[in-house]
Amino acid sequence: MNIQNYINGKFTPPFSNEWIDNYCPADGKVYGQIPNSSKADVENAYTAAKLAFPDWSKTTLETRSRILIKISELLEANLQRFAEAESKDNGKPINLAKTVDIPRAASNFRFFGNAITQFASESHESVGHNAINYTLRQPIGVVGCISPWNLPLYLFTWKIAPAIAAGNCVVAKPSEVTPITAYLLGEICTEAGLPNGVLNIVHGLGTTTGQAIVEHPDIKAISFTGGTATGAHIAKVAAPMFKKLSLELGGKNPNIIFADCDYNDMLETTVRSSFANQGQICLCGSRIFVEAPIYEKFKTDFVEKVKQLKVGHPSKEDTNIGALVSKPHLEKVMQYINIAKQENGTILYGGHKITIADYENGYYLEPTIIEVPTDECRVNQEEIFGPVVTIMPFNTEAEVLQIANKVKYGLSATLWTNDLKRTMRMSNKLQSGIVWVNTWMLRDLRTPFGGVKDSGMGREGGFEALRFFTEAKNVCIKY
Ligand code: NDP
Repeated sequence: MNIQNYINGKFTPPFSNEWIDNYCPADGKVYGQIPNSSKADVENAYTAAKLAFPDWSKTTLETRSRILIKISELLEANLQRFAEAESKDNGKPINLAKTVDIPRAASNFRFFGNAITQFASESHESVGHNAINYTLRQPIGVVGCISPWNLPLYLFTWKIAPAIAAGNCVVAKPSEVTPITAYLLGEICTEAGLPNGVLNIVHGLGTTTGQAIVEHPDIKAISFTGGTATGAHIAKVAAPMFKKLSLELGGKNPNIIFADCDYNDMLETTVRSSFANQGQICLCGSRIFVEAPIYEKFKTDFVEKVKQLKVGHPSKEDTNIGALVSKPHLEKVMQYINIAKQENGTILYGGHKITIADYENGYYLEPTIIEVPTDECRVNQEEIFGPVVTIMPFNTEAEVLQIANKVKYGLSATLWTNDLKRTMRMSNKLQSGIVWVNTWMLRDLRTPFGGVKDSGMGREGGFEALRFFTEAKNVCIKY
């Protein structure tokens, strides 16, 4: 499948006519090519966006809302096609793409299509001064959206939908590793009646195409989701130009299990929070801490449950764990398993590459559970972003709080307990942007989403996203 850039509502090849191979993770074969876009392609996309902006920013909220909801409906109508494409491109099980990725992408458009009609700004009466202030929330202009490969369409649309709902025009780049559903989205946007140039999708490498978006002097805001090192680099380039920045970065999230939890619910959810999407979700609870009285029981039961997960070809309905996204990523994850061994970790389960008949070159890895003697080891401190979790026991609330917070990341934390006071104490003190208590990845799109420390800055979701994609201007009138 050869894909093209989507610029000014048309599919166009890159100026350079240079292409990048696109690999299928399930069998390791090249199955298509994507544009290796240059600065000139980004400039072309920017020009289309700039020309579209005056009209788009003046459309009524009802018009924008109608188009966004239409995109959502078309995604739902094309669920099977999109899910198959996402699964093939990323290696994730088709079931996951069908029940999570594509429905969530559709929800993103529906949610922001509705949210924009409810978005209000403040007014402040200056009592005693005979003046009233009101705040305008104006679209920024042309904005850049850059997303990663783990939840390709889900995260791509999580940025694009609020950006265009707020009246901006967009130059967007999906990960070069998983470009297909972003490409298909172009067709849907045209069919839904999105005017040409409002959304422009440019494919290519992060270091060239992505960099050209970040460096562009007239792209005034960058919404980025990806690794912490890339986020730091983007901030360095964008900050001197005073761009608005939203950075959603890496995580190393604690999953803290107290003995008083609802055990079965915890066990089932912990299998999911450890290995869903091959562990390649920034919210996965990759550090599991278990209160000492139930540690041995948990260890046995967890290993038993994980043994039952079926690693297989992503297109098979009964596959629980598909392929990792790329060969370099598989190698990186396997390196961490070796590091764990050197650091005296005990592999309780997994740790090996898997060969699947007829797909010998696919990037399959067993779900891996490592018991670590201390939290001060690389596998407990660095983001692995694969089907690998560590487990260790703890004795007191104070101790687990301290180790949970002792990483550079702060994206999410999960807490399993039925003690209300402990829940309140811990939730206040956990250094993370999101705390889930007795659940995981339960998402309400109105809530603020993002991390603290090296997990990023800014918040996505709900009105937070609409605030990011608008400039506040205060008007003060004396009467
Ligand atoms: P990367 O940081 O490598 O890439 C993310 C995106 O940035 C890709 O589109 C990439 O392009 C692009 N990019 C790379 N270099 C540059 C550059 N110099 N300028 C502009 N764009 C650039 O992350 P991954 O794709 O490997 O994704 C995994 C990471 O994302 C993990 O760390 C994970 O935790 C994080 N993540 C965070 C989430 C959150 O909400 N906090 C959610 C999901 C993932 P290309 O791929 O083509 O090189």
